[in-house]
Formats: sequence, structure tokens, C-alpha cells
Amino acid sequence: MTTVGILGGGQLARMMALAGAPLGLRFLVMDTVADACAGQFAPLIVGDWRDERALSEFASRVDVATFDFENVPAESAQWLAQRIPVFPSPRALAVAQDRLAEKTLFRELDIPVPEFADITSRADLDAAIARLGTPCILKTRRLGYDGKGQFRIRSAADTDAAWAALGAQAGTVGLILEGFVSFDRELSVVAVRGRDGEFRIWPLTENWHVDGVLSASLAPATVDAATAATAFEYARRLAESLDYVGVFALELFACGDVLLANELAPRVHNSGHWTIEGSETSQFQNHLRAVLGLPLGDTRMVGLACMLNWIGQMPDSAAVLREPGGHWHDYGKEPRAGRKVGHATLRADSRGALAEVLERVGQALQRPAQVAPVVAKLR
Ligand code: ATP
Ligand code: MG
Ligand code: MG
Repeated sequence: MTTVGILGGGQLARMMALAGAPLGLRFLVMDTVADACAGQFAPLIVGDWRDERALSEFASRVDVATFDFENVPAESAQWLAQRIPVFPSPRALAVAQDRLAEKTLFRELDIPVPEFADITSRADLDAAIARLGTPCILKTRRLGYDGKGQFRIRSAADTDAAWAALGAQAGTVGLILEGFVSFDRELSVVAVRGRDGEFRIWPLTENWHVDGVLSASLAPATVDAATAATAFEYARRLAESLDYVGVFALELFACGDVLLANELAPRVHNSGHWTIEGSETSQFQNHLRAVLGLPLGDTRMVGLACMLNWIGQMPDSAAVLREPGGHWHDYGKEPRAGRKVGHATLRADSRGALAEVLERVGQALQRPAQVAPVVAKLR
């Protein structure tokens, strides 16, 4: 019996455990909190990421380790990798944890990126704003997620406010300034690479964010063959340069037919949740297959799929459950403002049919604004 250890016990670990059950896998989850939602499906070790006793116990009980949480300290991942197989590698994790290292690697690989500058002082910030122009975004290099740790600078007059908000972190997690990209849309590539180097991607996904948090995803994104090939090539280049093993997502800003890379998520990704019902093999199962050295599954889609995120609290499930292509995911979390507590995936065989389903669901749940951009795209 193989036991997969997962560092981080959120909804990604929970869905991984659900996907691994048919493969006969067991799981052990480690998290810093006792109520981590994956703990409802797998034994949980509670401990700080740097707690060697907890890490030792974790290592002694699993055959292989992977991540639900991308900000596990790279040294802890390294410590584990000296004892058990860890995928993706601590090096891939370390690059993806740092927006500066990540964007520098993208550039080295000829993957276009928004303009950026390393910010270590207020003087750096002034100089970088003068160089990049406004609007621009100041971000922490590390530990940001769901748009947290970011300050949007509309004009140079916002510089004081931006520095007041984030300046103290210049010497800790570091800061980066990015040019603001007025993209036409956001796309993501969810990809998987096996231990033997086999590489596959799912059809591209189009994503809509509200206040920096993913709100809806549509797959397949409508893209021409050249754009799809470019996205595939960027993801493949990145995966090979990092000798990546497992699933990852590459977030892209599409400006006409130019794709700019925003960030790399070294794990299964929210914009790939639709693959659970919308693809022959889900991102969760393929991640496990990759990590365990098993053959990768087909990433073909079954129809079209739209995923809607539930943030803060769960709506009533009936409107989704009564749809033939409706699928419900409740992560079993306590409601809390801004927290991802669940999602729904709606599947249909045609664009028109999916638009109709989304309109019905949006109406019934009184969330017309959440479905509107997806419906507009489908019509
Ligand atoms: P995630 O939850 O995806 O990990 P994050 O906190 O790491 O998010 P980003 O992906 O960098 O943050 O930014 C969140 C969102 O903010 C992006 O999806 C995009 O909508 C917007 N955004 C970020 N950077 C830029 C930029 N340089 N130009 C325009 N919009 C941006
Ligand atoms: Mg991120
Ligand atoms: Mg992002």
C-alpha cells in the first residue's frame, strides 16, 4: 500500500485524496492548523513547517511527498528531499515561491513577461516607477496569494501609500514592481510532466478574477491554433528547465496574440478544478500518477466546462445539483470572508447549452454578475 504525503491540508490536498482513492492510495497530510479541511479524509499531522519532529514523523510514514501549499519553506522541502522522494523538486518550488526568481527564469527562457523591477528601498521604488511608468503594481516577492500583498499604483502620487502599505516588507519577503498589463483576457495552462519526462497539457482555460481572486473559469478557452501552440511551448520549456514532476499552472495575460507570463503555480491549480468532471483525467489524478511514476492519463475534454468559485460562504446547492451537467464541491470549511469554501462545475455539450445552464444557475443563486462574463464569452 502506497502512502502519499501532502504538505498543506487545504482543498487541493482534499481533492487529491479523493482522486487517489480509486488508485488504492493512502494519504497523510501535514498542516499548521488542526482543522485543515483535507483532515476530514486523511490522517493529519499538525506542526510548524520548520518543526523537525513533525517533519520526521511525516517522512517516516510516507513513500513520497508532494504539496498542496506552495509556500512550504524551501529548506523544509530540501530537508525532506534528503530522506524521501519529493515532487515537484525543492528547486522548482523555490523558483515559483519568488516572483523575482520566477520572472527572471521566464525571461531566460524567452517567455515574455510584464516589465518588472527588484525593489529593495524607497529610492528603488521611485526610480522604478519613473522607468516603468504608471499604472503599475507593487507586490511582495514571496507569500502572496489571492491578490494579497499587492498595491496598485495608479499614478506617482500613490507612491507614499504603496510604500506605507508594503515598504516594511522590502527587507523580509522582498518586493517587486510590475508594469500594469491591460490584458484582453487571462488564460492559464494547466500541465503535467511525468517522472520520465512525458508532458501533457489540458485545453487552455480562460479565467475571470474579482478583487484578485479567481471567480470563474471556462474551458476550453477560445484560442487560435498558434496561441495554443505558444502556450504549450512556454509551459513545456518551463517544465523541462526545472525538470518538473507533477501538475503545474502557468498563468498568462493575453494581449491580442501576445502572451505574457504572470506566474507559475507549482501544484494543482484552481483554474484546473473543471478537469474533475470536464476531462478524461483530472489534474488531481494526473498529479498523483506523475508523482508516483505511473502512466499519465488522457487530458482530453468531455464537452465544455465552467467552474464557479464559492468565496466566503457556500450558496444553496440545489440550483446546481438539478442541472444534468452540474457538479458540486463543498470543501467542508467554516465560512469566512474572502475564503475559498467550494466550487461548482457546469458541463454541457455546446456553447449555447452551457450559456443557458449558467444563466439559470446565476439567476437561481442570485449571482448574475459572476456568470455574466462567461455567458457573454459563450454567446
Ligand atoms: P493567485 O491566487 O493566482 O496565486 P496572486 O496573489 O499570486 O494570485 P497574481 O496572480 O500576481 O497574484 O495577481 C492576481 C490577479 O491580479 C491576476 O490574476 C490579475 O488579474 C491581476 N494582476 C496581477 N498582476 C498584474 C499586472 N502586472 N497587470 C495587470 N493585472 C495584474
Ligand atoms: Mg500566486
Ligand atoms: Mg495568480
